Amino acid sequence: MSLKERILIVEDDNGISHFISTVLTSNNYDALTARTGMEGRRMMLSQSPDLVLLDLGLPDMDGISIVKAVREWSRLPIVVVSARTHERDKVAALDMGADDYITKPFGPSELLARVRAAIRHGGNRSPHPDAAQTGKYQVGDLLIDYDKHQVLVAGVNARLTQNEYKIITLLGRYAGKVITYDYLLRAIWGPISGGGNQILRVNMANIRRKIEKNPAEPEYIFTEAGVGYRLREDP
Ligand code: CA
Repeated sequence: MSLKERILIVEDDNGISHFISTVLTSNNYDALTARTGMEGRRMMLSQSPDLVLLDLGLPDMDGISIVKAVREWSRLPIVVVSARTHERDKVAALDMGADDYITKPFGPSELLARVRAAIRHGGNRSPHPDAAQTGKYQVGDLLIDYDKHQVLVAGVNARLTQNEYKIITLLGRYAGKVITYDYLLRAIWGPISGGGNQILRVNMANIRRKIEKNPAEPEYIFTEAGVGYRLREDP
C-alpha cells in the first residue's frame, strides 16, 4: 500500500520535466510524466493523480483550455507552470480554475511549497467566502483569530477594519496559495465596476501598515505582480 501522493507532470521540455520529477520523488511523492496535452489528459483519467503540474506552453494543446476542460468534471488540483513572458496566460489559467502557478525558472523549495499548498487546499475553494471559519491561523508573529474576529501581531490587536479583516482571513484560509485580485474583489465587494483594483490596493496598503514591520518589504502578504496576493505559510 502506498500513501505517497501522485503527481502528474505535463511538460514537453525534458530537462524541466526531469528536474521536477527528481525533486518530487526525492521528497516522497510519486511522479508521473506526460509530454503532450493529449497524453496528459489521458493520464489524468487513467492514473487519478492527486495533483497536476501543467506547463502552459505545450506543443499540441493550449494549457488554458486543458484547465477549462478538466474543471468541467473535476476539482483535481492544478498548478500551472509558465514562462515569465506569459503573464496573461497564468491569470487566464487561474480564472479558469487552476489552483496556483509557478514561474520558470524555479527552485526545489518553491516547487515543493506550491505542491504542498495546492494539495492541502485543492478542491476546497468554498463558493461562499463568507462561510464561518473557526480556529486560528498563525505564521511568525501574525495570528488570525477567527473566533474573536481579530488579527494580532506579536500579541497586539492590529485593529483591522471589517474589509481589511475579510481580506486577510480569505488569504489565511488559502495560505500559501495565490488569490487573484478578481477573486478577492468579488468575494469582498461583490461584482463591481472599474477601479476595483484601486480599492483593493488601498486596503492592502492599510493592512500592511498595520501588520508588517516594513510595508515596503512585506514578510506576511506577498504581491504576485499582475495576479494577486499570497499569505505566507510556515512549511
Ligand atoms: Ca513547454
